[in-house]
Amino acid sequence: MLQNLAKHGRGENGLFEISTHYSPFLEVAPIDYRKKPAKSLKEVIIKILAVNDIKYDAGEVARAIEKYKDMEKILDEFHYEYDSEKVKFSELEAKVPTLDLRKIIDNLMHPDKKSSIKDKVENRLVAFEHSLFFDKDMNLNKIIQSTSAQDLANFLIMYYIDTSGGALSMDEHFTMNRKCENEVIKFLPRASLRVFVRNYFDKENLKIVSEMVEETKQNFIEMIQESTWLHEETKKNAILKVEKMRKMIGYPEEFEKAGALDKTFETLNVFPTDSHYTIMNKIKRFVTEQTMEYVALETPLDPKEDVMEVNAFYVNDENYLNILVPFLDDPLFDSTYPTYAKLAGTGATLGHETGHGFDPWGITRDENGEKRDWWTPEDSEEYDRRVECMVEQYNEYDDPDFGKNLNGSYTKLEMVADGFGAETAWRAFKKLDLSREPEIIGFDEYSMEKLFFRIFALDYCTSRDTSTLEEVLERFHPTDSFRVNGVFSNMKAFAKTFNCPVGSPMNPEKKCELF
Ligand SMILES: [Zn+2]
Repeated sequence: MLQNLAKHGRGENGLFEISTHYSPFLEVAPIDYRKKPAKSLKEVIIKILAVNDIKYDAGEVARAIEKYKDMEKILDEFHYEYDSEKVKFSELEAKVPTLDLRKIIDNLMHPDKKSSIKDKVENRLVAFEHSLFFDKDMNLNKIIQSTSAQDLANFLIMYYIDTSGGALSMDEHFTMNRKCENEVIKFLPRASLRVFVRNYFDKENLKIVSEMVEETKQNFIEMIQESTWLHEETKKNAILKVEKMRKMIGYPEEFEKAGALDKTFETLNVFPTDSHYTIMNKIKRFVTEQTMEYVALETPLDPKEDVMEVNAFYVNDENYLNILVPFLDDPLFDSTYPTYAKLAGTGATLGHETGHGFDPWGITRDENGEKRDWWTPEDSEEYDRRVECMVEQYNEYDDPDFGKNLNGSYTKLEMVADGFGAETAWRAFKKLDLSREPEIIGFDEYSMEKLFFRIFALDYCTSRDTSTLEEVLERFHPTDSFRVNGVFSNMKAFAKTFNCPVGSPMNPEKKCELF
């Protein structure tokens, strides 16, 4: 049955998931986020049985659904564990002898492409010591062995129906107000990207931001070189990491060639006569096949990546900077903005993302994204002390919405990245020939230094945060207020620009500086 589900393009089958995690390696892993079983599940199953003329016992269906929910609860205890150790794929296979994982993986590939990509995919299978497979007391193999074949089959088919939500139009949340274009953006992001780039996007922006990334990297290297406390050996490794950082601005250059993107859709054939359900199933199957080609390095972009999202991010395991097209468009960016405005907005974000390579998690990876300790013990200790300074600063921060109730240990990765982002953007700003920069009408009395800080702050200008403290404490990013005032209060350049007296809130004597 798992083999058949795989043939339908289901890498996620209810028991586990075969997928990629931000890089072209195929993992067999626990399902990280399970949606709760749909309330309408019973109703939908009965409808399916009725439509197919199958006689059923209502009590039997109700009992099967209860068993399904029980099993869901057990499996929901297992999550994707981000800190688990890498193991050989064969070790994972040995933990679930009841399943033929390689055959399931085979079935996820397009039948015509299988012979050419099978070996490449096999070379890129990875496994981690997740408790779903490796726990001694409760693990997948035990769950499978202690469940009857009938219950297992019921579970898999119900999971299939339950997670077909949108396609079967049974989940209110899915169908209400859902517009066709949103569906295309969500499930075929690359096709939407193509339409958007061709019709509405100024490609000049890609070139400018690509150059800005190179400048950011240069300023980052300068910052490392000028550090008064990093030792030469650590500096050398850190610089190598910045130099080797790869980037994708908007979309892979390969897609720029005429017809290149169209070619990736060759195997998706949908017709106007297809039902919504059929189209959605074809798309699911197509995305899975594309994922396998991505793993085989036959296509440069993860088909699941939401390229229409307003986002920029850094992939630690790959030392890879990724800036998506909506992020390179107005109001965040435009080729006509003054350079200092580009630096204060997008420039700071580029520095922030580069900075993630050197946040407390980033520093555990080397220039290839491999886990390796490349710090001298002394530097490592000093780095921790400096991060702790930020943690304490946030713990003590009197936030206008939440008071002194925040927890810096949770937000330290983002605070470190913010610090680097502001520092590198300011370094780029200082190199500008300001006499060539236009002023902003209505703000003529402001110096360009002041405008830089104001435009930087503008990105975080929001209405008052009405979230509960509990919600805020679960976020990885510090509050918007801290992302401006907290960050600026650590910058001597800010205090100088605005003449803040020493010891005032925006110019404290104790500043938290990183490199
Ligand atoms: Zn970040």
